[in-house]
Amino acid sequence: MKIKFNDTFKSNEYLNYVEDLFSNYEHFRSKKYSRLALEIIRQRFPDAALWLTHSATGALEMIAEAIGIKPGDEVILSSFTFVSTANAFVSHGATPVFSEISLDDFNLDVSKIEANITSRTKAIIVTHYGGHSTDLTILREICQRHQLFLIEDAAMAYGNDFQGKPLGTFGDFATISFDVTKQISAIQGGLLICNRPEFREKLDHIYHIGTNRTQFMQHNKPYYEWVSVGSKYQMNELNALSLYDNLKHATTIFHRRNEISKRYFSLLKNLREMGIGLLSEEKLATNIHLFYLLLRSNEERTNLIQTLKNHEIEALFHYIPLHNSAMGKSFGEVHLPITEKVSAQLVRLPLHFQLNDADIDFVCETVNQFLK
Ligand SMILES: *Cc1c(COP(=O)(O)O)cnc(C)c1O
Repeated sequence: MKIKFNDTFKSNEYLNYVEDLFSNYEHFRSKKYSRLALEIIRQRFPDAALWLTHSATGALEMIAEAIGIKPGDEVILSSFTFVSTANAFVSHGATPVFSEISLDDFNLDVSKIEANITSRTKAIIVTHYGGHSTDLTILREICQRHQLFLIEDAAMAYGNDFQGKPLGTFGDFATISFDVTKQISAIQGGLLICNRPEFREKLDHIYHIGTNRTQFMQHNKPYYEWVSVGSKYQMNELNALSLYDNLKHATTIFHRRNEISKRYFSLLKNLREMGIGLLSEEKLATNIHLFYLLLRSNEERTNLIQTLKNHEIEALFHYIPLHNSAMGKSFGEVHLPITEKVSAQLVRLPLHFQLNDADIDFVCETVNQFLK
């Protein structure tokens, strides 16, 4: 493929960090690059407790453990999300209850959530699709009224806000992904955000393989010991240095990704008159993660992806609805027409730092030519 769907970012300093890391064993023990990366991330989340994890998946599992998810519990989530959003809770025994999304932004339709709440509901997990969120003020009200945990799967949303506040600060807990597919990447990595101080210690034990290592490191204990269940959720230092390198250039990366989105929009906006769905201008103003089109049929989507491929452009569809997956079906039948439509008709266009304007123009020309 000449025009790849995604690509990595790395600066000229990258190899210096590698040399530095390997020059001193202590850097691994003190987690030098995890600390440097966290210092940058903390500027966005000054009031939260933060842990760098090996993945957003791992961070979601930590949350499920911390809030004591057990068989019989229910969690409400979108079906148009990544497997991990459900799996982290299902692996602790929860039943996933899939709630419909809205056609505006492919996020949970807040007006349809309350019908799914039962006495067994423990949490609502909200995925910020493409880095844009639903109305989190309303969602928080719903959670407060029914005493449910609000968990943000902000995997795609590092760098994005809702009403001027960073996504990840609205839920009791939130996760962000720094996977190679996301705008800021550790190649593989994630972040756990805890906005509820009373859960900090518990999460810290879970994070450190069920030990009180943090208290030991802070010299409050003569040794550290096994105090709870937990696992090795930490990010490794090679990933942390990639993350640090990306974070140092986050402003530049976001700026370029946003420029690309806006260029796409200006060249494709006329497609709306033909009934093809695009991001709203308001969402586009801050778009840094995904640029997508909602085509008029599954057949049109398939043919467009093939046409783009013939021109060496890699465009992708997205999630198979969880409720229609082999595993999802085992929880019973649900009918979610909007989720199914979006899954069948959505196509994601290339969006990454390495794309130049000529690439975008060529993609748009090919799309416009096909749809004419
Ligand atoms: C990428 C993604 C994940 C998984 O993140 P990892 O870091 O790969 O574990 C989870 N949820 C959503 C919505 C994602 O986009």
